[in-house]
Amino acid sequence: MKSKKKLKYNKKNTDLIWVYPPNKWTSNYKQTFIYGWSNPKAKLFVENIKQKIKVHPSGNFAQIIKLPDKKNIVKLVQILNGKLKIITRHVLVKNPVRACRRMPPQTIKTKLRYFTKNNTVIIIDPGHGGKEHGTHSPKGIPESHFNLQIAKEITVAANGCLPSKRQIYLTRSTDKFVSLKQRVNFAKKKKCNLFISIHHNALPDNEDPNRHSGIGIYYTHNHIKPIAEKFLNLITKETKLKKYGVFKRDFAVTRPDFYRGILIECGFLTHPIESNIITSKQIQEKIATGIVKATLATV
Ligand SMILES: [Zn+2]
Repeated sequence: MKSKKKLKYNKKNTDLIWVYPPNKWTSNYKQTFIYGWSNPKAKLFVENIKQKIKVHPSGNFAQIIKLPDKKNIVKLVQILNGKLKIITRHVLVKNPVRACRRMPPQTIKTKLRYFTKNNTVIIIDPGHGGKEHGTHSPKGIPESHFNLQIAKEITVAANGCLPSKRQIYLTRSTDKFVSLKQRVNFAKKKKCNLFISIHHNALPDNEDPNRHSGIGIYYTHNHIKPIAEKFLNLITKETKLKKYGVFKRDFAVTRPDFYRGILIECGFLTHPIESNIITSKQIQEKIATGIVKATLATV
């Protein structure tokens, strides 16, 4: 994201254009305010939507334009003496997460698509699968099943939040076995930036299952700790589930240093009450929304 300070108004620079959403953009997200200076004799158009911009005799222009869907870049086209030229553009956006907290979840999905960086690849990694079950719920359903459910909810919640569907990938989308090495290699191939592994927690048999509950986030490298804390805060805020905590662990999927990796334990399947809560679709959706909010705050 470009900072506002970097842009200086300079009349001599005919290519300099400021583009940013108006102050009330949270309630009217498709509107973008553009202003700057151009040659007074030029005709200005917004590419894609062919909207004409009025240039005053002084060369100044200022106008609110309506952005087409899935576009967060505004290209201004100048026609001067019959020559067509695309003018440099800048897009400024405010903190999307601060804005989205005030909106209902359905609206977040639509609005955030403008505010993520274009080059971020996020890998969602539903733990276990196939012959590898992980732990089990009290009803005997394998953890791998719930991990996949949450991962799919994340893609639903993220749909429209990210500039393109290509930028979010799952390491598995069915109940099949995928080795840890295959998961990491997949992330490497996709040039992953943020790797989120989804699991559910369990206790050894000799511990009291009632005493352990809540969301736990695991990381390997110290610089990832703030990201883990962000995920813990936003997921628990969204779901009202307890905070189990953030923990440093050397997991195979959080160890690589070519991406920022975290592992989320979405509550304890061994807890008699929490297991019912976290396996309900309603809470799974909230976990996913919390993860998407934290992701957007991170990328
Ligand atoms: Zn697991």
